Amino acid sequence: MATGGYRNGVQKPPNLRTSSSFKSKLPPSNTRRSTPASLAADSGRVRVAVRLRPRNAEELVADADFADCVELQPELKRLKLRKNNWDSDTYEFDEVLTEFASQKRVYEVVAKPVVESVLDGYNGTVMAYGQTGTGKTYTLGRLGDEDTSARGIMVRSMEDILANISPETDSISVSYLQLYMETIQDLLNPANDNISIVEDQKTGDVSLPGATVLEIRDQQSFVELLRLGEAHRIAANTKLNTESSRSHALLMVHVKRSVSGRDDEYPLETQNRSNLVGNLRPPMLRKGKLIVVDLAGSERIHKSGSEGHMLEEAKSINLSLSALGKCINALAENSSHVPVRDSKLTRLLKDSFGGTSRTSLVVTIGPSPRHRAETASTILFGQRAMKVENMLKIKEEFDYKSLSKRLEIEIDKLIAENERQQKVYENEIERIRLEAQKRVAEAERNYVEILEEEKMKCQMDYMESIKKLEEKWTANQQKHAINGEVQRGAVNEEVAELKTMLQNETRLRKAAEEEIQNLKTQLLQFSKMELAGGSTDDLSLPEVLGEESRQKKKLEEEVKVLRSQLAQLSIEANQARSYSDSGNSGNALLGLDCFTPLNHLRPRDGSNGERASITNLHEQVGLQKILSLLESEDANVRIHAVKVVANLAAEEANQEKIVEAGGLTSLLMLLRRYEDETIRRIAAGAIANLAMNESNQELIMAQGGICLLAMTAADAEDPQTLRMVAGAIANLCGNDKLQTRLRSEGGIKALLGMVRCRHPDVLSQVARGIANFAKCESRASSQGTREGRSLLIEDGALPWIVQNANNEASLIRRHVELALCHLAQHEVNAKDMISGGALWELVRISRDCSREDIRALARRTLTSSSTFQAEMRRLRIEV
Ligand code: ADP
Ligand code: MG
Repeated sequence: MATGGYRNGVQKPPNLRTSSSFKSKLPPSNTRRSTPASLAADSGRVRVAVRLRPRNAEELVADADFADCVELQPELKRLKLRKNNWDSDTYEFDEVLTEFASQKRVYEVVAKPVVESVLDGYNGTVMAYGQTGTGKTYTLGRLGDEDTSARGIMVRSMEDILANISPETDSISVSYLQLYMETIQDLLNPANDNISIVEDQKTGDVSLPGATVLEIRDQQSFVELLRLGEAHRIAANTKLNTESSRSHALLMVHVKRSVSGRDDEYPLETQNRSNLVGNLRPPMLRKGKLIVVDLAGSERIHKSGSEGHMLEEAKSINLSLSALGKCINALAENSSHVPVRDSKLTRLLKDSFGGTSRTSLVVTIGPSPRHRAETASTILFGQRAMKVENMLKIKEEFDYKSLSKRLEIEIDKLIAENERQQKVYENEIERIRLEAQKRVAEAERNYVEILEEEKMKCQMDYMESIKKLEEKWTANQQKHAINGEVQRGAVNEEVAELKTMLQNETRLRKAAEEEIQNLKTQLLQFSKMELAGGSTDDLSLPEVLGEESRQKKKLEEEVKVLRSQLAQLSIEANQARSYSDSGNSGNALLGLDCFTPLNHLRPRDGSNGERASITNLHEQVGLQKILSLLESEDANVRIHAVKVVANLAAEEANQEKIVEAGGLTSLLMLLRRYEDETIRRIAAGAIANLAMNESNQELIMAQGGICLLAMTAADAEDPQTLRMVAGAIANLCGNDKLQTRLRSEGGIKALLGMVRCRHPDVLSQVARGIANFAKCESRASSQGTREGRSLLIEDGALPWIVQNANNEASLIRRHVELALCHLAQHEVNAKDMISGGALWELVRISRDCSREDIRALARRTLTSSSTFQAEMRRLRIEV
């Protein structure tokens, strides 16, 4: 039925643009991003193509003499419907598909744009309308088993969809249904034969929750599904005693696609938000639904050949179809009421016409003039449908599920990372803390050390200046005293004169005493000689003289023998010297190298050979004879003899014999009598060695040895002589019993006198003597056997001691340090020591001395003396 009024004119929908191609009128898939997805909408008129079936075998025969009822002008997209031989109505469609149109071309112009929209997230509908037998199923449902070029729109659509989705993120699911007599049956599960339509109250979306939904993974399974659906359809229709042409078939394809990544895929609002919160954009989920509808035949009932009860059925079949026509009419005329709810079909296709779907309709017609009326009705249906405007709307939503899943994974990762970082951070903090602690401790230590050093230095400086002040003060005191003395000068001069006179007297008396002693000795010798000569009272003087001269000759002979032996000894000694190494020969006559008692006197070039010779000699000649040679007139003989005796005295075993034989007396006599320095040196050395023995020490003392040693000490110039003398006195100083006498006979003064010789060997012996003396005194004091100030201090040793407390030579320093410590152990000495400046030295020793034991001794001594303590407090010195 053509709408009148356009006779010989083009029947044109008012808003149809004739020139636009079917395809070009589709909304471009990338021009809809200016508004949020949910609002995205586009105008989308229902597109309609007309397809003409070729004449079938029957028509070729039956209509052989008649022309087709339609004439197609595909290039003009026009169809002319013949009314009679001279008159026709012309209709314009979006696409006009001739009987030669291939299935591929039909798919591309009718369905492909819809499929593309579905892939973009729109709903899409492809529907075939037309009289039974005009090719609806051919167009939509051919599987193309034998001939792939015959594949219909369903198969090709799925091919396209599968080719354009990614199986990892996207999914396709399918339902296949049949609507017959207002009943929806599930073609995928025939038991499901009354599926109800559910409508979402808010959105108005319809769905079929009861329908089977199958996931599609590949084309093969889809084709199988279609085949299965078709089989079920035939079975169902046989059961219902009807034909498939009377039922509507609906294929529903749900395509879910996930869109992520590209910013321009997102609505602007989402982009802005995303920029603020970082990559928290949920992926977009696009849900397109494609519905392919193969409608029941549109022919009128009388033509379908239905009779009787079938009439009702036909009405019921066409209820849905006529409802669809009514809806489309209403939509085409912009009627306010669209009776969508009148049938199940219109409810199911609510979105396809007048909704948001992109919809393509293909109307199929046959060429036979016998069906002209049905063909015209089909064409008019298509023409009306072309006027239906849909508002395309993208079905897009945020995929919060997958976002939350992604975020959960992200959060878990971050938690783990955070925990790891936290641990690293804690470790780092701990490391820094320890490092800082270490550095602080180190700095503190350094600081304390520096402070201590600084303090020490300050104290020493302080001590130095106090010391100087004290010295100045003492000097001033002395000056004052001298001044006082000048005033008393006259009286003193008188006293001095008296003193000199007294001294002269004393000297005279001493000289007389010496003379008497001399005479006594001579007398003794004379009587000895008389006894040795077997003196008898009846021997006459001439006989005695003769005897004397014989004795003398004999002695001279012996002397000669001895000389030659001594010469021999000298040679041997030289040989021995060159034989032995320098370390051995380097020994001094007295090995006074430490603070232990004096070593044995050694021959200067001492060797076992020489000593053996000397032993031999003394055995051969007899000790007595050797000793007598000490008094020989001949100086050479005396020197050799004293050397021999000294060598013998170096051996402890000989010492007693020597003393018993009167050797000590002879040696002392040599000191007394002879001016010769060499003899005195060797004699002193021998005496020093003999003085190692305690009983010898007493003998030396008893025989006035100290006086003689003191005399020698006063006269001698040779440092070695002084060394021997000092060594001998030092040994005597170590005897507790001899302390007082030693001092009263001038021993200490003699020692101190020798410091005029600055030779370190001498000083070392002096220091040793002082240390020995101080030690004995200290011992006696602590035993309570002596009282009062140290005799050393009395005799004025303190200044020298203080001066040499820090002597460069370590041996001297050691002795002096010990002497100071011993002196300091007695409170009676403390005052003198303080005024003499010894306290400074003691403090220094307690701090600086390299020997730990001496350092400790000094410290102990200082802390145990209350006088020192008080002084140190006064001077603000700490030990
Ligand atoms: P409908 O589904 O509309 O009732 P069918 O698709 O069953 O019609 O087609 C009826 C017959 O016509 C079938 O035998 C079919 O093969 C044939 N046919 C339909 N369209 C064409 C076409 N375009 N070319 C060739 N044969 C066709
Ligand atoms: Mg069919």
